Amino acid sequence: MKYLNDYQAKELIVDIGRRMYNKHYVAANDGNITCKAGPDTIWATPTGVSKGYLKPEDLVKMRLDGTVLQQGALKPSSEIKMHLRIYCENPAVQGVCHAHPPIATSFAIAGISLDKAIYPEALITIGTIPVVHYEAPGSQGIPDSIAPYCKDYNALLLANHGAVTWGESLMEAWYRLESTEHYAMILMYTGHIIGKANVLSCEQVQELVKIREKLGIMSGGLPPHCAAKASNLVDVGVTPSAPATKATAADVEIIVRAVLQKLGL
Ligand SMILES: [Zn+2]
Repeated sequence: MKYLNDYQAKELIVDIGRRMYNKHYVAANDGNITCKAGPDTIWATPTGVSKGYLKPEDLVKMRLDGTVLQQGALKPSSEIKMHLRIYCENPAVQGVCHAHPPIATSFAIAGISLDKAIYPEALITIGTIPVVHYEAPGSQGIPDSIAPYCKDYNALLLANHGAVTWGESLMEAWYRLESTEHYAMILMYTGHIIGKANVLSCEQVQELVKIREKLGIMSGGLPPHCAAKASNLVDVGVTPSAPATKATAADVEIIVRAVLQKLGL
């Protein structure tokens, strides 16, 4: 497997940090980025520094077991535990991005997975994005809660917290973070502002999955309406995004009659 050298990994983290901050995916010192620089080493963002103002010398070199090999004035972020767990669960991963992009984070707060088959690009590059149950930021609960998803998915929403994405390069992880927020924005517009979305059929979804597999992406899951099972994961505290059911005119008439009867009219 080919890895970025130390210089390339640090430069890329600093560059992505600036983009993440400029796109308002993070505020103040939020978010963290890591990049593999060898089979057992990563470069990571430190705690307490804005991603918009990172310098290469701020970054921390670590082993996958959490041992710090090299650091500047600051310790690694407590959220790096989540990154280390992703690398351990899925050895093909070479980059991880975590941020609090406002629209995706709002879906995470509402407990709504990003899993509607409405947008081919999202389905190909990321697939479906489940919400993982709430655990306190920086706690050991987060790595434990995401572990079952690291091989089958490419991105997750952390309930009441934010989003995390990964890829076979840090660039791929970053693009997936951008795509997650873009997909969340389209879901917000179609679902909650325009109020209408034509969902792709399972045949159309299968076509996209074939393209995804041709690109070498074997993870990403299937939208619930096309999956044999809604999910292969049993998680707690996750609200599945059930399709909205609309009352028919006949239903409305029955309800109105029942109310009028109650009121004695
Ligand atoms: Zn966070």
